[in-house]
Amino acid sequence: MSVYSPEQDFLAFSRANEWSIEQPSAFTLDNGTGVEVWDTGIIAFVPAQVTSHDIILSCGVHGNETGPIELCNEFVRDILDGKLVLSTRVLFIFGNPASMNIGERFVQENMNRLFSGAHSQAPGLSNHERIRAKKLENYVQRFYQEGGDKGRSRTHYDLHTAIRGSKNEKFAVYPYQKERKHSTLQLQIMLACGVNTILLSNSPTTTFSYFSCDQFGADAFTVELGKVRPFGQNDMTRFIEVKQTLKALLSGGDMGLSPYDEADFNLFKVSRAIDKQDDSFEFYFADDVVNFTSFPRGFLLASEKDTQYKIIEEGEAIVFPNANVANGNRAVLMVVPTQLPT
Ligand SMILES: [Zn+2]
Repeated sequence: MSVYSPEQDFLAFSRANEWSIEQPSAFTLDNGTGVEVWDTGIIAFVPAQVTSHDIILSCGVHGNETGPIELCNEFVRDILDGKLVLSTRVLFIFGNPASMNIGERFVQENMNRLFSGAHSQAPGLSNHERIRAKKLENYVQRFYQEGGDKGRSRTHYDLHTAIRGSKNEKFAVYPYQKERKHSTLQLQIMLACGVNTILLSNSPTTTFSYFSCDQFGADAFTVELGKVRPFGQNDMTRFIEVKQTLKALLSGGDMGLSPYDEADFNLFKVSRAIDKQDDSFEFYFADDVVNFTSFPRGFLLASEKDTQYKIIEEGEAIVFPNANVANGNRAVLMVVPTQLPT
């Protein structure tokens, strides 16, 4: 274990210290920006002139989703080098360095099912991922609380890539909003990032983005930026729009937003989730069928033991199918086209 110093590549430092560091560190850049390393994968920046915006960018909650990890590390490097000058407070979270090192989604447990306290429910804090999820919650809380409550806007983009390709390469999950209205400004930012497909979640979940939205009123999204690839094999040109937009967001530049028009988006809502109950669970569509593919009514989607799962609604499409999940977990999410609730 070691202490971070600014000459080090932050991602390399985090991967070398898989679950913890010797001690936190803090220093100030020549341009006055304060830098605090709280833990492995956790680095906060506070510009000398603080504005009213607190932004969290997280990546690597799934360790093999390397594109966003490389993107965030580039931002960190540019800020440390003084090339990117912040106009907002920002916290970068590299979620699961140990799983990055083995090139897997997780080591023992899918961390994006462990937030909003799920980490401490039975069997309790029994593995590294559960402990890490609890720590990440504390870091989010600390960052937003240190920014203060009054009149500040809070954003959290949790960046991922999907196991499968998608009909629309980039898409975002908009967490359940309870009584709050969906933000069209946020959708405009998503569009500028190249994300025009939005899945509106209709219930509380144990994802990281729902946690920030629910606990801190943040405008939060799970943003899927394309398909999983190994480190160094990402075509970074596919991230140009998201990179430019987030850069502008962090530096107070022009994000080039278009006026909001619902016709620019493919909006979906969840119709149901199909949970795997038995080891015999199998899908009847190919492994390369992409997210947001729809099937005709009556189509046999999956089966296990004596149960068959068919398409029940015209236009119903699949998202995040994964037959390899543990029994009792979601095997696929079913979605249908929708409009923004008024
Ligand atoms: Zn992911």
